[in-house]
Order: sequence, then structure tokens, then C-alpha cells
Amino acid sequence: MATIDASSIGEKTQAVINTFNRYVVPNYKRFPVCLVRGQGSRVWDAEGAEYLDLFPGWGCNLLGHCPEPIVRAVQEQVAKLIHVPNTWYTEPQGEWAKALSERSFGGQAFFCNSGTEANEAAIKLVRLRTDGKRYKIITFKGGFHGRTMGSVSATAQPKYHEGLGPMVAGFQYAPHGDLEAVEKLIDDHTGGILVEPILGEGGVVPAPEGFLQGLRRIADERDLLLVFDEVQCGCGRTGKWFGYQHFGVTPDVMTLAKSLCAGVAGGAMLTTVELARHLRPGMHAATFGGNPLAAAAGVAALEMIENENLLGHVDTAAAIFRERLEALKDRCDAVADVRVIGMMIGVELTIDGSAVVQACLEKNLLVNCTQGRVIRLLPAMNISAADVHEGCDKLSDAIIEVASRG
Ligand SMILES: *Cc1c(COP(=O)(O)O)cnc(C)c1O
Repeated sequence: MATIDASSIGEKTQAVINTFNRYVVPNYKRFPVCLVRGQGSRVWDAEGAEYLDLFPGWGCNLLGHCPEPIVRAVQEQVAKLIHVPNTWYTEPQGEWAKALSERSFGGQAFFCNSGTEANEAAIKLVRLRTDGKRYKIITFKGGFHGRTMGSVSATAQPKYHEGLGPMVAGFQYAPHGDLEAVEKLIDDHTGGILVEPILGEGGVVPAPEGFLQGLRRIADERDLLLVFDEVQCGCGRTGKWFGYQHFGVTPDVMTLAKSLCAGVAGGAMLTTVELARHLRPGMHAATFGGNPLAAAAGVAALEMIENENLLGHVDTAAAIFRERLEALKDRCDAVADVRVIGMMIGVELTIDGSAVVQACLEKNLLVNCTQGRVIRLLPAMNISAADVHEGCDKLSDAIIEVASRG
């Protein structure tokens, strides 16, 4: 069983916790569980307990834990070339950029290592296009764009700004979905609009009907760059390669990370050939960006999704989640809303979500809570139907249990 109360923490786990307490900066709230091994949608802790993971790698482990084709690609690459600087050409980086371009809007890629870095590149591109004259970027309340100073300034949630001021200048926040507010904010210094097509951290909320289309129209009319942050919703998770493909609206710039390399660290900013030239040599860089290991993993992830028809499988697995969670909503007042966009799932509750996460952990089920009351699942694209059912059984029990405590 999962150990959750301090008196029952196993010896091995306690030793690791002691090391952390002494040597690791305490900037994360951690469960008292030490994970040591994973396979598919299963993960094991240092005491030997097994968990069903519906939130593998915080959305990074798109294909589950240790997917065989990714492991093999990285193993082969790591023995050939681990890293060389971007002053040289490498085969994997070119192949990776081509593969991403062909599955999106035909542009070019800048590679980095994380989501926040990808957004920093997008912010710089917006500013560089007009030599800094139009430096302002409109973003949305409830959005999340990362933790470096530019990206956190772009993030319109006060809790992420606390104690960090002053923020980077030039970001203006509009209510999510409000096109009129966007139009009102635009002035001669506005250069771009940055938005998640599906809010992730904000509670798994797809753009309302017509919103992205409206942003596209405004961007075209006012000569602004439309930037989509697909760090969480991109790369196949939703059943299409990219979130924007659900809405029929193409961005000028798109940022990717999290699941981009199926668990290996990697990020990218994609933009059109025309715009890419504004990132001139010397204007931006990431030392590890596009390194051969990340590139090999990134290419292998795209190939695995195609070889195993996982975009199609996502629709099948999503249908089961939707049916099971809708049924739960019908019989349980604690469930206010169910949002399933492929393997991006939000279960909005009327009760405290963290208590439900804790109850799930006691049932050896790993889930996440965001915005206080939204249980967020980002399951692996290749999750089995049996695991979906088991996960829904346990999550339903946990919600009903916590709700009945009153
Ligand atoms: C997680 C996330 C980021 C930040 O990514 P990091 O890799 O943690 O820097 C940015 N945007 C969105 C939408 C995210 O979900």
C-alpha cells in the first residue's frame, strides 16, 4: 500500500527523504513516496508498491514510462554522440525539425530544453520582428507560460508573481475568451497575442467557440503575431498532433515542450520561414537546445505514435474516460463538470481536490489537482482500456469517499 502518513513511511523512502531535507532546495511540495521504476502506465516505489499513473511525468511521459522505442533510440544515440554545440550541424536535429514541420504548419524550429524557454524564444521573436518597437504581448487570465521572468510575467495569475516583482514590462492580461477586451488593449506598441489553445494548468479548459478564430482575425487585421503555447496540449496528446488542429486556426508561432521528447527534456518554438529570419545569429541561443539525445527521442516519439496508431487510440481511450466520468457526474453531486480532450482530462469538483488526490494515492492511483478543484489527468497516449477502467473505478471511489466526509 502507498504510505502516506509519516508513521508508516518505509525505511528506504525515509532515507531518501532525509537526504532531500538536508541537500535539496525545498521548492516543491512532495508526496512521501520515492519512485524508482516505471513501465507504461505503471510505476513502482522504493518499498515495492505499484501505482497506476494517470499523470505520468506531469504530462511529459506522453507514451508512458520507459517506452521501448524511445529507450532504444536514446541508447543508440548516447553511444554515438551525446552533445555538440550548435556551431555544428548534426543529423538528428535536422531530422527532428523536418518531422515537426511536416506535421504542423511547414515552418522552422528553434530548439531549447523546456516550455518556459520555448516561450522566451517566442517573446523575443515578437519583439525582434519590430526591433522592439512593438514589444507588448496580450495574454490571458488563467493561462500558464512558465517560471522564468519573461514567461512568468506573461502568466496572468497573481499567485505566480508573489514576491517576485517587478515583472518584465509589456504584458497585458485579458479575460480568457474575451475578444472585445483584447481589441481594447491593443495600441501602437502591441506586437503579439500569446494563448494556450487549451488551458492546462488553468483547469483543462478548451478555447471557447470562436475565440481562437477571433484572435486570428484580430492578429491579421492589426498585424500581430499569434502565438500558441502548446507546451501541454501539443504533440498528439489530444488525438491530433497539435491542439490548434482541433480549431482550424493556424498560429504564427507555436511553443512545445513537456511531451515533445516523451519524457526526455526538450523544447521547441516553431514559426514560419518568413518570421524565423528575425531570430538572427547571435540574438538567441540555448546551449543544450536540439542536442542529439533530445532529437533522437523526439523523432522516435513521432514515429512510435504513427507506427502504433496512437492518435486513433487516444480517441478510443478518451471515449471510455468520457463515458465513465460522465456517468460519475450523473450520480455524484461533487462532480460539477467533465472535460475530456483526448488524453487531457479535467474533472471539476465542488469539493477540495487535494483531498481526492490523497484518497487516490491511498488506492495507489496517481492523479493531479489544479486550480484547487479540478482533478487533472494527462494519461499516456498508449494507456490500455483496462487501465482506463481501473483508473476510473478508483477515482470514482475516491471522489465519492471524500464527498461523503462532507
Ligand atoms: C508546463 C508548461 C509551461 C512551462 O514548461 P516548463 O518545461 O516547466 O518550463 C509552459 N506553458 C504551458 C502551457 C505549460 O503547461
